[in-house]
Amino acid sequence: MWVMVTGGAGYIGSHAVLALREAGFDVVVYDNLSRGFADALASEDFRGVPLVRGDVGDRQLVGETVRRFGVQAVMHFAALAQVAESVAEPVGYFRNNLVQGLDFVETLLDAGINTFIFSSTAAVYGEPQTIPIPEDHPTCPTNPYGMSKLSFEYVLASLARARGLRYATLRYFNVAGADPQGRAGERHDPETHLIPLVLRAASSGKAVDIFGTDYPTPDGTCIRDYIHVTDLVAAHILALRALLTGAVASHLPSGAGYGLKYNLGSQKGYSVREIITAAEKVVGHSIKVREAGRRPGDPAVLVASSERIRQELGWQPRFGLDEILATAWAWEQKRQTVNKGQSEEHGR
Ligand code: UDP
Repeated sequence: MWVMVTGGAGYIGSHAVLALREAGFDVVVYDNLSRGFADALASEDFRGVPLVRGDVGDRQLVGETVRRFGVQAVMHFAALAQVAESVAEPVGYFRNNLVQGLDFVETLLDAGINTFIFSSTAAVYGEPQTIPIPEDHPTCPTNPYGMSKLSFEYVLASLARARGLRYATLRYFNVAGADPQGRAGERHDPETHLIPLVLRAASSGKAVDIFGTDYPTPDGTCIRDYIHVTDLVAAHILALRALLTGAVASHLPSGAGYGLKYNLGSQKGYSVREIITAAEKVVGHSIKVREAGRRPGDPAVLVASSERIRQELGWQPRFGLDEILATAWAWEQKRQTVNKGQSEEHGR
C-alpha cells in the first residue's frame, strides 16, 4: 500500500519514511523543501523513495501525485513549527498549517483517500492545569503555532462527520534523538531546540543558554517530556494500522465519525539542567552554560499522559533519555564530519 508522507524530507518525516518502509509500506514523499532537505533522502537507505516537490495547497500537483502512485493513506508532517516565529508571523502560520491544509485534505477526499494521520502538538493545550496532561485536558493554545494546529484538528473532526474522513491526530511533546542506525537525524535551520543546541555547545566549547532559572520547579528550569523520534514514528505506524482496521473505538462523540486522538510523550519530565547534566555524561566532558532570561510563552512544566495509546494500541517507548542523547550525539558528530568535509572541499 502506498502512503504519502508530507514533510518527508524533514526531521520527523524522514524517520517516518524509514519506519513505514520497514513496516512494508511503499512511500512517496511530498515536500516543498522550505524546511526540509532533499539530501536527507539521498542515501542508499532511502533508495526507491520518490520525492515530489510541491506545496500541500497545490491541488493539482497533490491530485496528480496521489493518482500517479495510487496513494491510499497520508501522514501529514509538513508544517511550520516554531513558536517564536509564529508569534512574529502569524499569517504565514495560519496560511500554511490551516489554509493550505484545508485544500490538501479536501483534495485527498475528492480523490477517494480518507485515511489521514496528523502531526499535532502539546502546544494545543496551552498552560497546563494538570500534570501529566491527558487528551481530554482543555485546549487553550497560547501562540499561533498551537492555534493553527488546533484549528486543523477541528477541520479534521468536521470532515470525519461530513465526508467520512478517518483520521488520527497525534499530539507530540518534545521529540528528540536520531535514528539509532544513523540513517536520519535532527536538522533545523536555524536550530532552536534544546538537545541539539546542548550537543553543539558540547562540540564547539561555546555556551548554551538556559532560558529561565526562576521557574517554580525543583532546580528553577523548565521541565519537558522528551520522546525519542523512533518511538514517536512507531506510534504513527500503530495509529495507521488502527485506522485501516478500525480495531479501536473512535474518540469522537457517537455519530460524529471516526477520529483518534493520542498524546505522544514518555510521561517523564526532565529539567533543562537535568538534560545538560545527562548530556555531559554522554559526551564525556562538561558543557558551558549561560543563564539567560525566560523565553516568552514557555510553560514551567509539560509532561504527557500517554496512557491512552499505551492501553489502546499497546505502544511502548523503547528509548529513554540516555538513548535520546546518545543517538543525537552520534548524529551531531556525523553532521560535524560532513560539514568539515564540505568546507575543506570549498577551501580547495
Ligand atoms: N531551552 C533552553 N535553551 C535553549 C533552547 C531551549 O533553555 O537554547 C529550553 C526551553 O526554554 C524549554 C526547553 O528548553 O524549556 C525545551 O525547548 P525546545 O525549544 O527544545 O522545545 P519546546 O519545549 O519549545 O517545544
